[in-house]
Amino acid sequence: MTSAPEFDYGIVGGGLQGCLLAHAVAWHRPEATILLEERSTELCGNHTWSFHETDVAEEARGWVDPLVAHRWPSYRVRFPGLSRLVRIPYATITSDRLREATLALAARAAVPGRPGGLVVREGESCEILSPTVVRIDGSTEISCRAVLDCRGRAPAPAPGGAGYQTFIGHEYQTPRRWPPSEPTVMDVPTDQAAGFEFLYELPLGPHRVLLEYTRFHELPGCDESRAAELIALRLAEAGAETADLIRTERGCLPMPYAWADSRPGSSLAGGYAGGWYHAATGYSMPLAVRFAELVARARPDRIAAVVAAAAAEDRLRRGFARFLNRLLFCLVRPEDRWKIFQRFYRVLPEERIARFYAHRFTFSDAVRIVIGRPPTGLAPIRFARSFISLAKPVPT
Ligand SMILES: Cc1cc2nc3c(=O)[nH]c(=O)nc-3n(C[C@H](O)[C@H](O)[C@H](O)COP(=O)(O)OP(=O)(O)OC[C@H]3O[C@@H](n4cnc5c(N)ncnc54)[C@H](O)[C@@H]3O)c2cc1C
Repeated sequence: MTSAPEFDYGIVGGGLQGCLLAHAVAWHRPEATILLEERSTELCGNHTWSFHETDVAEEARGWVDPLVAHRWPSYRVRFPGLSRLVRIPYATITSDRLREATLALAARAAVPGRPGGLVVREGESCEILSPTVVRIDGSTEISCRAVLDCRGRAPAPAPGGAGYQTFIGHEYQTPRRWPPSEPTVMDVPTDQAAGFEFLYELPLGPHRVLLEYTRFHELPGCDESRAAELIALRLAEAGAETADLIRTERGCLPMPYAWADSRPGSSLAGGYAGGWYHAATGYSMPLAVRFAELVARARPDRIAAVVAAAAAEDRLRRGFARFLNRLLFCLVRPEDRWKIFQRFYRVLPEERIARFYAHRFTFSDAVRIVIGRPPTGLAPIRFARSFISLAKPVPT
């Protein structure tokens, strides 16, 4: 006789995907028991996860909205020769807010007589032994109706090749009021000799701002001195040279350009581990929310089938996003990369931009994104060949 599983859901990894999933399950299935295992001593790490509000389907708003720390009605992009206000609402979830909300959810489970609930365990590494069993710290085995792998990206390089999006973000407390404005999602300086780079600016309050340097490069390292230079320039422009640095976040996100492996893995994976992120933008929110909704709404014995069907339905979009990365990193000269993004914001109306970021773009959106005069240095024949063969990087 086999004993009943200890938990309905075992979520391994308490980063963005793991925490979103815990909230989605608690919202849709309040009677369910959930185990959330995080290896580090604190859930959620140190991130600012932004997204277009149109990334989140109406039916997910009930559980996503309380996690939002900041929201704005629009954002701006600035390129040489183009400044555009994009009237799509933009929002941010911070690690602090997500951690606080997740621990509050777990605290509710401690109320006697309340069915279901979330148990959070931090500071313990967890192995996935099977789709229903995990092992904690090499000893204790726990059985669950469904185990979800939300362990983020593996340290190994992306198979088939990738470029990298690297970031250094500094959050400041400013002595003077920060100039009131919307977020600037890309402020692209004229000198792009080192590849596509820009400054990202989130006004978090009258005296609080996040300034983040981002670079798209074939190497994973970040140019610290260039980041310091651009951030200092922006502080000086805003008259905030004496601002206090209160937090730093940094990271590196591989942007794969080989066709995604669509074979189902031995365990059910979400977030970066399962390909539930936007390969071309680096934003994880749209697909992490979608994965959380799918899992939380499906019966536990149907989760694998429901997730596999949704991934298959999204297969061409995932392929197209990776093709765009290939275009960026293999087919366009580094100094011309910015022109791809400038053109994107110059020609696309807001509804197409929203669908692209939400990973819900149509065939006609994809055509509109690539059709037009090719960027400088891009031979049309190589471009066309690249559509046909995504398996190997094209030598430059
Ligand atoms: C600097 C930076 C800025 C970004 N900005 C945005 C943004 O604005 N918007 C957006 O949507 N995306 C953004 N991204 C991308 C986004 O952060 C990631 O793609 C996203 O965090 C992936 O979510 P995840 O849950 O799969 O992985 P993670 O958030 O990395 O979480 C994985 C978790 O699993 C834990 N773990 C790993 N192994 C084990 C184990 N064996 N046992 C237990 N726990 C384990 C890890 O400690 C970690 O906490 C950004 C990325 C970076 C680096």
